[in-house]
Amino acid sequence: MEGRLTFLGTGTSMGVPTLGCRCAVCTSSDPRDRRLRPSVLVRWTEASDGAGQAHERAVVIDTGPDFREQALRNGLTRLDAVFYTHSHADHILGLDDLRPLSFAVFRESGPLPLYASAETAQVVERIYDYTFSPAATYPNRARVRLAPLEERTAVYKVEFVRVPVMHGELEIAGFRFGRAAYLTDVSAIPETSFALLEGLDHLALSALRHKPHPNHSTVEQAVGWARRIGARHTWLTHIAHDLGHETTNRTLPEGIRMAYDGLELPVDLGTVKP
Ligand SMILES: [Zn+2]
Ligand SMILES: [Zn+2]
Repeated sequence: MEGRLTFLGTGTSMGVPTLGCRCAVCTSSDPRDRRLRPSVLVRWTEASDGAGQAHERAVVIDTGPDFREQALRNGLTRLDAVFYTHSHADHILGLDDLRPLSFAVFRESGPLPLYASAETAQVVERIYDYTFSPAATYPNRARVRLAPLEERTAVYKVEFVRVPVMHGELEIAGFRFGRAAYLTDVSAIPETSFALLEGLDHLALSALRHKPHPNHSTVEQAVGWARRIGARHTWLTHIAHDLGHETTNRTLPEGIRMAYDGLELPVDLGTVKP
């Protein structure tokens, strides 16, 4: 299945520019130095079914505080599922903006599935109590349902494989879909996860800055993992204002580049084995 991977946001939790900052990157005129909070969109068209009808499918990984703006910029008008990597604010706080999209899904096929670990689900349920509480009566609440994040989840004909990574002390989820993978907020990759990352065309991998951080990889660490994983193309994301797009790109080895908001790549999404 041919599909498209779009970077909806490539910034770190504070976004770039960072509020109140006047550094060279935050004041840069290069649009690729403007980074919304981290998220990606995976889209594909399913060939016609028996009735001769093709279906557009769309999945987002994380809905951060910029989700609404990202959906508008990238022409996202329908959605089939959301996957969550973890429960930090920069990855979940756009959930309420799923409301208008979820109403359409609800009419078609029931509540929009949100795949999340038990830990993430717990945080989301607490924050969005008026959406998830059995006693919720708010009429315009999102028509969504939390679904357990399994090792493999099929969304129609495309399979999303959970790839565990470490984010400081926390084990969070990365995802592989066909010959592409999205790993954000990574501080370490468990040995067993490398086996899930063989044969990639495109790898999106987080790289915060050059200076070490307890919960995030540096550019140097990310480059090391990228070399070991050996994807044809690696795209760095979840980037802080320390890294200018153009200046950093020039220092990266062949096959490894900075991602930027709106970057779209054709990807082979594979097909679920029957
Ligand atoms: Zn983050
Ligand atoms: Zn995080």
